[in-house]
Amino acid sequence: MKFNTKLLHSARDVSDHSGATLPAIHQSSAFAHESSEKLEKVFDNKAPGFAYTRIGNPTVNTFEKRMAEIEGGFGAVACASGMAAISMTLLAILKSGDEIISSAALFGGTLDLLTDLEDLGIHTTYVDYVTPESIEAQINANTKAVFTELIGNPRLDVVDVKAIAEVTKRYNIPLIIDATTSTPALIRPFEYGANIVIHSASKYISGSGNAISGIIIDSGRFAWDFEKYPTLARYKQMGKLAFTAKLKNDTWKNYGACLSPQNAYIGLVGLETLGLRMERLCDNALALAEALQIHVENHEIAEVTYPGLSSSRYKEVSTAQFEKGRAGAILTIKAGSKEKAWSIIDNLKYASVATNIGDVRTLVIHPASTIYGHSTQEQLDCAGVTSDLIRVSVGLEDIEDLIADFTQAIIT
Ligand SMILES: *Cc1c(COP(=O)(O)O)cnc(C)c1O
Repeated sequence: MKFNTKLLHSARDVSDHSGATLPAIHQSSAFAHESSEKLEKVFDNKAPGFAYTRIGNPTVNTFEKRMAEIEGGFGAVACASGMAAISMTLLAILKSGDEIISSAALFGGTLDLLTDLEDLGIHTTYVDYVTPESIEAQINANTKAVFTELIGNPRLDVVDVKAIAEVTKRYNIPLIIDATTSTPALIRPFEYGANIVIHSASKYISGSGNAISGIIIDSGRFAWDFEKYPTLARYKQMGKLAFTAKLKNDTWKNYGACLSPQNAYIGLVGLETLGLRMERLCDNALALAEALQIHVENHEIAEVTYPGLSSSRYKEVSTAQFEKGRAGAILTIKAGSKEKAWSIIDNLKYASVATNIGDVRTLVIHPASTIYGHSTQEQLDCAGVTSDLIRVSVGLEDIEDLIADFTQAIIT
């Protein structure tokens, strides 16, 4: 199956014989079995079946299987949110004394999480830009994970996954990619050597800004060294599948990070149109970014950043690794001043002022006063968040309307 066919037909729910074209929403906490003996087997993973929705649910399972197939991974674990997916991944692998190397340009929530992890003795070293050289320079004996966003939100720096994976593979460190902003429609990071992929499925996967959810996908191809990763040693007999086995049986189950069946269903429905939506969203973003250049030339705004612009330093890597070179659907505008940024935002007619991305409608936000409102100056600098920055999550509106709306908001 090719990509768009997979979105519709992979991992179909076969438990339901009604002929329903969509998966059933199994909105049930518990699943009854005919005997104690049968339930014991289900509990012990010795018989297929479900016991309790925090541990497993058929609708959630269908979502996990479809995501694993779409990404070309071995297995997936669905979580209550993108943040839960990142937390569970790191907590399953790391222990006190371990270190993460991460891009400094991260989603605000992830930066906050990594700060929290310092209290557990898990330290993060940040690199300004994720390059093979910058990563390799920071690796030491305690480095147990490399974490990065594929297209940084909101700095929009694009990571060359293949180049980074060559370094992490040499040191046998898992490369964990938050691919929320690129989605599997643009790139399947396992094909480029990533080991674990995470999505906030709240964004492009659910697609209409209608559910909070997250997903972790394991390539199943990372050779865990159980002396270096004693946290996974209990699952040694699972070999390369130890990470997912630990998540399912311990970390994810015990922290209670499960996804609701309703939101898994919303993710499944969203996936069906992911390919189609991403094509239009990315094309709109490129066209809007190109159209806004004129206002930079006219000194009405300071800068427009979009990795797919031919002037972008990320154009080449975007063309090389993204499907048809489509470089995501987020662009940023440096308005020149905070006042100008707020005035552009407030003058827009179609764009909603909201803290989200990946919606079908265009959303704008002033990151410095919201998502990064309590960040330090250093964090702001690293994340590329200036006081005049506007982040635009481009939607499916007709491009003529979007260009007209941004134009009037800028020149007013
Ligand atoms: C939104 C987002 C997250 C967090 O996801 P939630 O579903 O809101 O918890 C993580 N990473 C990136 C890149 C995001 O955009």
